[in-house]
Amino acid sequence: MSAAVRGRVSSERRLPLPDACLGCSSCVAVCPVASSDGRFAGPKVLGPAFERLLAGPWPGEPGLGPRDAERLGAGLCLQCHLCDLACPAGVEVSSLTRRAKALARRLPRGGYRRLMDDLLADQERFGRLAAAVRWPRSLLHGTSPWLGRTVDGFAGRLVGLHPARRLPRPPRQPFRAWFEATRRPREERDRQPVILFVGCHGRFHDPVVPRAAVEVLRSAGYRVVAAQEVCCGSPALSVGDEGRARDSLEANARLLDHLSTRLGGGVPIVSPCPSCSLSLRRLLPELIGDGPARAVADAVWDLGEFLAGPARVGLEQAFDRPRHWGDDGAPPSGEEAAVTPWTYHASCHLRALGVGKLFPALLSSLEVPGRLDAGPAADGCCGMGGLTGLTREGYDLSLAAGARVLEAYRSLAAAGPVVLSDCPACRWQIAEATGLKTAHPVELLAARLRDRAGGRNSIG
Ligand code: SF4
Ligand code: SF4
Repeated sequence: MSAAVRGRVSSERRLPLPDACLGCSSCVAVCPVASSDGRFAGPKVLGPAFERLLAGPWPGEPGLGPRDAERLGAGLCLQCHLCDLACPAGVEVSSLTRRAKALARRLPRGGYRRLMDDLLADQERFGRLAAAVRWPRSLLHGTSPWLGRTVDGFAGRLVGLHPARRLPRPPRQPFRAWFEATRRPREERDRQPVILFVGCHGRFHDPVVPRAAVEVLRSAGYRVVAAQEVCCGSPALSVGDEGRARDSLEANARLLDHLSTRLGGGVPIVSPCPSCSLSLRRLLPELIGDGPARAVADAVWDLGEFLAGPARVGLEQAFDRPRHWGDDGAPPSGEEAAVTPWTYHASCHLRALGVGKLFPALLSSLEVPGRLDAGPAADGCCGMGGLTGLTREGYDLSLAAGARVLEAYRSLAAAGPVVLSDCPACRWQIAEATGLKTAHPVELLAARLRDRAGGRNSIG
């Protein structure tokens, strides 16, 4: 196993340890919200300091409550986890700010707004609703794209999205239907199984990424089994709904444990979405505890981490199979290979998993051409923060929090690169804020594998 993979973040249950805080403010320096919104008291205050005063300064004195959490701006935390990475004392700061955020959410809010908040937090329900109206939406978009966009805009506003945010177009064929149609059970019978945790974005809104993941994993020699899953709970946590997140994680622990056992036990669980990977690996043990939840968390891999680790040999073999154009891979005379320049954005959740730069290294080692570097300014949070940046209330904050990163990608616009990112929320934010095309890196790998004879790396 490669060194990068040996270094992956353990699922071991870690305690937030507020008393270990040294007061150094390193967490404040990296927090994208503290530097862009004066209403936010910052991770040091809303993390260790807040936690210590939750039970009151001394016995008999009242502790802090929902109003204090709201006054200090706890609801604005994006749950990006950058504070955890910066803390020299090992305090799990984001676990503490998450608790403060959950406390602020307990304040009563208007009926309709709360209803819509709950719907957005419950991506399982939202996704099923989107699936139920897929046909009429597809018909509308097919007949009149303008009318389709107008109706989508109206529906988005009804559920609380900012007017600048566009709902993804309805998929032509949902992931599950494509997956069942392309399975070859007899041919794949003797292959090592891998469980694919697709994530809500892939299941309900955009099947392109999980399809590419399946293609690449199959090329690397695996039998892909698509999990019966529910939402990973990350969207619920992004709005401070810990109860809903816990229910989702508990259900997933049961479903994945059962599936892995049925397949012989110890089967790797791979997700192309870093927020799902982080939820399952880190939050399962933290919020649910040990037992089956720990076993499931230990088996979870982010897709890039899995392809750069256990699947690496199979993937290299897939790339090494004879090319139509001869061993040097050069195109036949008179034909130019189309090469799309690409740059890579590591999402915060991927960095929180400790595997932030594996995909670009893998693409480079597989000699995928066209790499551009957006420089150190791009090495930060895009500001989306899960659902936060989609909403009317969170939109401006998300652009301010991601301003430096978004500007770094805008500066590459003349070269016209595709910005590769594993995270659907980062792709959404970067595409809308910069006008650049975005894609998951596995789409580029799948395109390369499909188009090996042509040597191209164009996507879509
Ligand atoms: S999780 Fe991100 S937004 Fe929240 S306090 Fe930490 S660094 Fe700031
Ligand atoms: S980085 Fe860690 S030690 Fe420093 S103030 Fe923040 S929580 Fe405390």
